[in-house]
Amino acid sequence: MSQLTLLAVASLLAGCAGFIGGDDMDQEQLQREAILPDPAISNDFCPIVETGQNPAVALPPIDDRGGCGHPAPFLLSTIAGNQPVELSREATVNCVVISQLNRFFNDKVQPLAQSYMGEQVTGIRVAASYSCRTRNSKRGAKLSEHGKANAIDISALTLSDGTVLTVDDDWSSYGRKGRFMRAFNREACKYFTTVIGPGGDKYHQDHIHLDHGSHGRRGLWRSCQ
Ligand SMILES: [Zn+2]
Repeated sequence: MSQLTLLAVASLLAGCAGFIGGDDMDQEQLQREAILPDPAISNDFCPIVETGQNPAVALPPIDDRGGCGHPAPFLLSTIAGNQPVELSREATVNCVVISQLNRFFNDKVQPLAQSYMGEQVTGIRVAASYSCRTRNSKRGAKLSEHGKANAIDISALTLSDGTVLTVDDDWSSYGRKGRFMRAFNREACKYFTTVIGPGGDKYHQDHIHLDHGSHGRRGLWRSCQ
């Protein structure tokens, strides 16, 4: 893809989502580092759930007005692993989100938590999951990935010693809490096609948005903010 096309896609995306900045991230690097979802995932088969690796409750198809919904959503309460991570409330998400969350937490978040904080992550505060709305709830904007059960918003992390790190309070700290939060955001970009934290825009000052939407002409554009 030419530089010009990339720029065009970037500005198109910026226009749709109301992003401020962030589109100067090195797209080639993001693509190179991407850890893509299990190709075996389909609406009929969710390997990580059906093999019991990460339990979740299969829900009936959601078919809401305005194009919202998903044919095979799940209710997720725990990210399974050596150190399970409890969700503050059950999240309605699709199989790709469950699978990528599981890999992200086990492969990256727990080692990062150990190295920055000397602890494991035991819980996350879920600010939103499935929600039939437009991006940033703006009238006339494109349907949010939340409306496709393809997104989750995380506003806080609980550690094994009981410490709670919130995006609101700890993101900007120069200490290890802030460095951990920002590393969490950065590493999430390998697992999700869109990651928007406080570095992104005014709508994401108190949570980190993760989704696996397909963006750009070829559906491969990644946005890491
Ligand atoms: Zn969100």
